[in-house]
Amino acid sequence: MTNQQYSVHLSIASSSEIEHTALQLKTTREEFLTTGILPQHPPRPMILESWRRCRTMQVNPSLRYAPLAVTHEVQLSHLREASQLLMRAARPVMSHLSDFLADSGYVIVLSDADGCLLEVIGDAGVRRNLARIDFVPGGDWSEAAAGTNALGTAIADGHVVQLLGAEHYCSGWQDLTCTAAPIRHPLSGEIMGTLDVTGNYRLIRPFLSSFIAAMALQVQQEMRELLRPTRKGKFQAKFQTASFSSSRGTSSRASTMNADRKRYRTGGNVPGTSTGDDLRSFPRKQKKRVHNAELLAAAAGAISASLDIDVTLEKIAEKTAHLLRLETASACLFDESGEMMSLHTWSKQDGWRSKFLHGLEALLRQYKVVSLIRERGEPVIIDDILTSVILPAAPLEQRGIRSLLLLPLIAARGAIGFILAPKCTHYHWTVDDVLLGLTLAAHAATAIENARLFTTLEQHTHHVEALREADRLKSRFVTAVSHDLQSPLTAIRASVESLLDQDGVQSAQMHEHLLQNIAGQASRLDRLVDELLDLARIEADVLLLDRDWIELPALIADTVAQFEELHRGCRVERDLAADLPLQYVDPVRLAQVLWNLLENALKYASSCTSIKVEARWTRNEMLIGVADRGPGIPADEREKIFQHFYRLERDQRTHTQGSGLGLAICQGIVQAHGGRIWVEDQPEGGSVFRFALPLYTASFTGPGPLEKTELFGVSTEEW
Ligand code: ADP
Repeated sequence: MTNQQYSVHLSIASSSEIEHTALQLKTTREEFLTTGILPQHPPRPMILESWRRCRTMQVNPSLRYAPLAVTHEVQLSHLREASQLLMRAARPVMSHLSDFLADSGYVIVLSDADGCLLEVIGDAGVRRNLARIDFVPGGDWSEAAAGTNALGTAIADGHVVQLLGAEHYCSGWQDLTCTAAPIRHPLSGEIMGTLDVTGNYRLIRPFLSSFIAAMALQVQQEMRELLRPTRKGKFQAKFQTASFSSSRGTSSRASTMNADRKRYRTGGNVPGTSTGDDLRSFPRKQKKRVHNAELLAAAAGAISASLDIDVTLEKIAEKTAHLLRLETASACLFDESGEMMSLHTWSKQDGWRSKFLHGLEALLRQYKVVSLIRERGEPVIIDDILTSVILPAAPLEQRGIRSLLLLPLIAARGAIGFILAPKCTHYHWTVDDVLLGLTLAAHAATAIENARLFTTLEQHTHHVEALREADRLKSRFVTAVSHDLQSPLTAIRASVESLLDQDGVQSAQMHEHLLQNIAGQASRLDRLVDELLDLARIEADVLLLDRDWIELPALIADTVAQFEELHRGCRVERDLAADLPLQYVDPVRLAQVLWNLLENALKYASSCTSIKVEARWTRNEMLIGVADRGPGIPADEREKIFQHFYRLERDQRTHTQGSGLGLAICQGIVQAHGGRIWVEDQPEGGSVFRFALPLYTASFTGPGPLEKTELFGVSTEEW
């Protein structure tokens, strides 16, 4: 069971993903209900916990409608009366939500702390459908009565819940999605009820989680206002007299949306309900909102200005700090497995930043707080960490953090990260702060998704370019190899045919010449096959080195002597530092590199008079070079000539023999030694091919202190 993959997000980024996920969930639920064990594709952890609770409570999974908590209008009135404060506070918020979600196919629901529905407003058609399952005022939607459902489960586990289709435990409401947030008493923190939005499962949208959480917070704030004593020490009159019950009967199931709308619209702004204070502070609040909207627009612009993910994250942190008037703020993303990645922090002062950041990531990872954001998309609001139950006070206080706001970054597939907004003093985060922060977070999530898409696109473009290059190389390979194989084979065949030509009269000299030709072409073939094999080993990273401690001057002397022997009349100048330390290399491979470079110098410079081999060393590297006075290499081709089969245009035109493999093999050998190879122009004309090998310290001898020397007029420090 332990190695099973739990997914914390639903795949709901498009209509087809939603359909696919809904189908998958059906199978998962059926498996859970029929076998009772953990399904092969387990549901999200919070759903599994809820299903298990339902099973323990013996909820009937075949329920087709929820039980009614009350059957008479009078009883419903009593229920509503008992939740008078909640209903009064929820009224303007629900009105706002109703406007916001108008014609979207959602209904807006208020329940009490027992999961009993107090109000259902919104689309009349949707409400009529929902009435068939008793999703009506008076319906009991607690987990114990109706199984897993957003508002019942939010009451049971105390957090924001969003559900899709078959995540609901009972059969009757498998085609719905609902999102609910608990509403807590502003003073005691106890759950007073829930705010919920419900609609057809195809309407599921991840952003609703944090949005409904913010709306629930708004209800809490309204309650706080209502509970504020008047000057006479009593609660405000508007709360004392408020009641919904007078205009609503048990026939409320059939009451129309328009009636609700009308009633709710007048909500918080009923003339006569505003206090003098409210009226006085109204212009101030409006001014502040306009100012915030302007700041928000500017921040959104700045955040979207770059498609570089790191720059975007830093801008998000900076703009959050600016908008919420903080000393510092951070942005953090989750990786694919849902783990938190590093914080990107912006601070007014660097001192603050390092103190604040020290060990904070590890601390956040340890606690439930991050999983709340990741799995539920729930904003975390901590006014005072001394009274927080989800984060430890001491380690945060040490970092100068006393209150904290964590805002989920929600994209199409759910929470992709969060914004962290700390304050160094106890602070009451207002709904305006949270809404402002969430709006910025929504812009930020879009900017991050754009930056990620851009990166993917770029990688894709690079990938396509790499594939094209590989294709070009392959064509070059086929052309080069078939040409290089064909020309010696043609020459061999011609010589053999001449030898076999019985009619032809051949002198012994001609005979000898033909045989020499066959031997020469055969060794050319042999060499090509060797090169191809070396290349294959280098490509496959299996070039084995047979290292030994060697004296470089001796190796150079041997190689040069053989080279001069083969190319009679050719002299290679040597300029080797006197104290070259022992080298721990594969001598055969190193000689092969030297040989290739010498052959190229001879072949392309077409004069061997000025070929020079030099060797020097620095504290870390042995530096070897082969210089010639040939035509040099154009600057823009100096890297390309190390690619397989790459030959300069001019040499292809003049038909200089070559396969374009020598330098690629040299590079492979040097790199296998941990070194590097490159080519430079010589100021006096010609090119110099240089390679550097790391120095190893032999136990019996070792390099002395760094000695500044000159190699081909270049200080070794510049190498
Ligand atoms: P090739 O078998 O063609 O010599 P290399 O990989 O050794 O293959 O060299 C690649 C290309 O680099 C050559 O075809 C030539 O165009 C260029 N080149 C190599 N060495 C030199 C040099 N010393 N001077 C000028 N051009 C050179």
